[in-house]
Amino acid sequence: MNTISNYIKSLFLIELMKGLILTGRYLFKRKITVQYPEEKTPMSPRFRGLHAQRRYANGEERCIACKLCEAVCPALAITIDMEEREDGSRRTTRYDIDLTKCIFCGFCEESCPVDAIVETRHFEYYGDVREDLYMTKEKLLAHGDKFEKQIAADRAADAKYR
Ligand code: SF4
Ligand code: SF4
Repeated sequence: MNTISNYIKSLFLIELMKGLILTGRYLFKRKITVQYPEEKTPMSPRFRGLHAQRRYANGEERCIACKLCEAVCPALAITIDMEEREDGSRRTTRYDIDLTKCIFCGFCEESCPVDAIVETRHFEYYGDVREDLYMTKEKLLAHGDKFEKQIAADRAADAKYR
């Protein structure tokens, strides 16, 4: 029975007609294609893009070198060295993230007790060589300085849902 039905479908091009009817139905509907990069889709404040290190308003870096992010990172992408300052506070001497290993899980951000390491909404970046995707402390702090306004606004928006 199935064979006969398939034969009739093939003979009268039923599947092809079904496809053409579906195409015709959408031909005059409003187009939903986004013309990226001129047009952008809405983005969640929780989007996990390029990492950044934040500072306090007085310019002091937030990170206290507790190494929680390094310990929690499932991809072993974070490397931290630290030293103790004369006033007894701890600060990193090295804070690197290898983006070629990172899986953008957000665990580093979740684990940080002082909201120092964050993932920004910035995703339009690339690297010609591997070193371009190796984020040093200097690069991460520079990202933080550049995107701080957006980061602070996203934190405030996100706090409403917690
Ligand atoms: S986002 Fe995840 S994988 Fe990437 S550095 Fe943070 S903890 Fe590691
Ligand atoms: S970024 Fe946060 S979790 Fe990671 S070492 Fe610094 S203070 Fe600790």
